[in-house]
Amino acid sequence: MAKVTLPDGKILDTPNGVTVADVAGMIGQKLAKDAIAGKINGELADLSQAVTQDCKLEILTPKADNPDSMYVLRHSCAHVMAEAVCYLFPETKLVYGPPVDNGYYYDIDLDRPITPEDFEAIEAKMTEIVKADKPFIRYEMGRDEGMTKLKAEDNRYKIDNAERAEGLLSFYTTGTNQGSDFEDLCRGPHVPSTGRVGAFKITSVAGAYYRGDAREKMLQRIYGTVWPSKKELADYLHRLEEAKKRDHRILGKQLDLYSMHEEIGPGLVHWHPKGSLIRYLIERFWTDEHLKRGYDIVYTPHIASERIYQVSGHLEKYADMMYSPMDIDGVNYYLKPMNCPSHYKMYLSDIRSYRDLPIRMCELGTVYRYEPSGTLHGMLRVRGFTQDDAHTFCTPEQLGQELDLILELMDFMMRSFGYSYKAYLATRPEKYLGTLQEWERATEELRAALQRRDLDYEIDEGGGVFYAPKIDIKLIDSMGREWQGPTHQVDLQAAKRFGITYVGADNAPHEPIIIHRTVLGSMERFVGGLIEHYAGAFPMWLAPVHAVVASISEKSASYAREVYDRLRNAGLRVELDTSAEKIGPKKHNARKQKVPYILVVGEKEAADGTVNVNDRTGKTIGTERLDSFIARCKKEIDERALGTAIS
Ligand SMILES: [Zn+2]
Ligand SMILES: [Zn+2]
Repeated sequence: MAKVTLPDGKILDTPNGVTVADVAGMIGQKLAKDAIAGKINGELADLSQAVTQDCKLEILTPKADNPDSMYVLRHSCAHVMAEAVCYLFPETKLVYGPPVDNGYYYDIDLDRPITPEDFEAIEAKMTEIVKADKPFIRYEMGRDEGMTKLKAEDNRYKIDNAERAEGLLSFYTTGTNQGSDFEDLCRGPHVPSTGRVGAFKITSVAGAYYRGDAREKMLQRIYGTVWPSKKELADYLHRLEEAKKRDHRILGKQLDLYSMHEEIGPGLVHWHPKGSLIRYLIERFWTDEHLKRGYDIVYTPHIASERIYQVSGHLEKYADMMYSPMDIDGVNYYLKPMNCPSHYKMYLSDIRSYRDLPIRMCELGTVYRYEPSGTLHGMLRVRGFTQDDAHTFCTPEQLGQELDLILELMDFMMRSFGYSYKAYLATRPEKYLGTLQEWERATEELRAALQRRDLDYEIDEGGGVFYAPKIDIKLIDSMGREWQGPTHQVDLQAAKRFGITYVGADNAPHEPIIIHRTVLGSMERFVGGLIEHYAGAFPMWLAPVHAVVASISEKSASYAREVYDRLRNAGLRVELDTSAEKIGPKKHNARKQKVPYILVVGEKEAADGTVNVNDRTGKTIGTERLDSFIARCKKEIDERALGTAIS
């Protein structure tokens, strides 16, 4: 007899020898039919697994919003794909096939390159395997016996995998003929049979080094996705198409915003004029909003001697993300990975009294951090970037009000760019510096600030950094995807480490509280994210070009130039197209560049002093007097209206 506690708290008394599937049957017939796997005391398990002792048990059914269910589906589908690939290309050596976000992949060692042209044949074979509805059957072997079996199969990757596994080795056969049916070394669990894997599609193939090691053999990694239903698969593929259209690397080139250069080095962004303009406008906005809120703007050097990084602890804790030092007059200098020490030094350049606090320093500070080349990704993951950094030094009594100010600014900035967001309170990690009391107090201050703003938040248990609890903000973009956003840390260690104090009302020295925070993160990452958020169609206040003036024919070319001059003089960013091209292609080009407004001018407009206004979505807004169009644009810019940026 085992007592099985279900997720709703109900307890079932089960007879000896029941399996997870049996328990599902005891709960209900429909559940027994839908079940694909179980979760016993938090561990995923096959339906065929015996329930031998008292436990908590959850029955899993295919559900797109349940990460456990999706893990089992994705992992099972990876097996089905592997079986199909091995059938079609018997030379294939299987390497490793884990579930990943939105799908799975399988790394294979095969000399013949797999190309997208092969996907259809692989999918057809997978469909056959699914139709055959073969059971996934688990069997276990002792280590020695298992290793002998693997060695006979002459697959060094599986031998490697097995060497890293603990305890008994488990294998899964699809089908009932152990030895002749497809099988794979695997920890499991899987759906009960191949018919249950769901709706799948192979999405791409790429090269990947074995174990990510560039000295190892280059393998082929085949990616697939799987969903509980055909409809969910179709929706996902549609989202994938949309995301591709928004890829900042493609749009960055198409809209001439930035480039990278192999000879200069990977992960180093070159901002082209249009990209630079966007960045400049954001930085100007950022700076103005900080000045309004009582921040001081500072600039600090890009290199610093090792002495400061010994004090800060960077050399001890972060050496692997810092670049090798350069020798200047016999002293090691590093490219700075963070701006904090320079801000502390400026604070320390004078005696500070409680009357001087709070001191808020902000800097668009460029830092350099090592990222492995395999993790670099367009503007989102780079090796040199400009952080929008700030440090607030305040008394403990001022902490609440300062956090309010910071959250207000964060909220204002996020709304200005059209992002919604989620807040997370990250609490004390296992390894931490400082006393429990300090942590408790700082965490409570953060919590209270979230509550004063009436922000819903989740707790990220143990997610704080070793010196500080923090509030992390995740942005939600126009596609509903989450991005790492602003972060706010209440530092409990820096003041001690750097000897930072202020003179209190009692004339004695006290340690200030230091808040680190970024709102945008880095200019590179933020602008990369914005490109995808807006699909390249920036709102008027950020658009590198506000309008294109396009003449219908030679006859209206001089009026077009007049319109262009007037718009420029009014402070708008304009381009002129008086080429011999027909008006259709002219409008098309401007739309492709995502210019918010296309002004078509012909003889009629010239006679009336008007423009024919079209927007980038292809909509004709109509004939408008030029001064009214200018006034409307200025209003849109001043209000930072999102306009047609987010559709
Ligand atoms: Zn498996
Ligand atoms: Zn800092």
